[in-house]
Amino acid sequence: VNLKERSYPICITTSFDDFGKTFLSLRTGKKLLIVTDENVDKYYSDICSKELENNGFEVSRHVLAPGEQHKNLEAVYGIYQQLVEYKFDRTDTLVALGGGVVGDITGFAAATYMRGINFVQVPTTLLSQADSSVGGKTGVDFNGHKNVIGAFYQPKLVFINVNTIKTLPKREVSAGLAEVIKHGLILDEEYCYYINENAEKIFNYDENVLQYLAKKNCAIKGSVVEEDEKENELRAILNFGHTIGHAVETVQNFSLLHGECVSIGIAGAFRLSLYLGAVNEAAVENVKKMLLKLELPVSLPGLDVEKVYSHIFYDKKVKDNKLKFVLPRRIGEVFQCNIEDSELIKKVLFD
Ligand code: NAD
Ligand code: ZN
Repeated sequence: VNLKERSYPICITTSFDDFGKTFLSLRTGKKLLIVTDENVDKYYSDICSKELENNGFEVSRHVLAPGEQHKNLEAVYGIYQQLVEYKFDRTDTLVALGGGVVGDITGFAAATYMRGINFVQVPTTLLSQADSSVGGKTGVDFNGHKNVIGAFYQPKLVFINVNTIKTLPKREVSAGLAEVIKHGLILDEEYCYYINENAEKIFNYDENVLQYLAKKNCAIKGSVVEEDEKENELRAILNFGHTIGHAVETVQNFSLLHGECVSIGIAGAFRLSLYLGAVNEAAVENVKKMLLKLELPVSLPGLDVEKVYSHIFYDKKVKDNKLKFVLPRRIGEVFQCNIEDSELIKKVLFD
């Protein structure tokens, strides 16, 4: 599949067979640096390098330590050093082979080295295939603040081999599905039911289902981002489930995966909307069942609600003491609203 509704192609496929050929069509320089992490390196670096070398590219490799705790400027520094040492110029290319962490770090290095060199994304987690590889946000964490250093920078190509998620821990697959179902919940009811009906096939890595998901995710996220690349009203709907989700993530000290927190946030947003009379009870129950079927949490026993609340309140999205929430109207449609009633939020989080 080759979607090209934006300036760069997104290839969705089931192997790396056409990687080199696709790369050639970009007409970049001959030098490539594959940036990956230790976990991904052992599975996919060799096959990608070989494909690229067979097509005449000069390939080198830079392996990062895995995990969010290494998504920092030091990692970027290491990439700069290698680029300078190998005399990369602006026609050459950085290839991000890995999940969202590798993609965000590598994208930022690409955006800033020589004011921008070619950048290609090869996402290998469901989250990065569904979410982070499309949209042009790059960056790293700084002094304990997530994603505060960054740039908007678009790749020249996104190459998605859906079979790479076969080596991903199952918990990571579920976490990625939170962002996947989020796309359906904000804009596409049919898509939600498709995911629900095909949950088992997803967990069994059915190639056709995975390719369909990748295509849908890129189309939905792409359509939102294209209209509103720099985050205003429309792009904000992608934050559905994230206001509560981010707070839970922080309060739990990042012991839960991001997608798991988003799932808790989605369930919370549905309950909040029910209290406000904006969504019906059947939808709330339905969504809860869907999330559980994807092996995602919908609440967290023992969660310190006061802490979550104060984190939400002091989050950057708070303007004029009002909490800006994206809430569901039904499955497949959301709206934005300001909530001032803090007790309401606490009550909803307790449920
Ligand atoms: P990740 O990159 O840390 O990957 C999760 C884990 O899986 C890591 O340990 C990694 O080494 C391992 N892994 C990756 N691919 C694998 C594979 N195919 N087989 C086996 N193991 C594999 O995390 P993620 O969930 O992909 O991404 C999370 C990051 O993405 C966060 O830093 C978040 O801020 C960022 N993000 C960015 C955007 C954006 O628009 N740029 C959007 C959403 C999230
Ligand atoms: Zn997210």
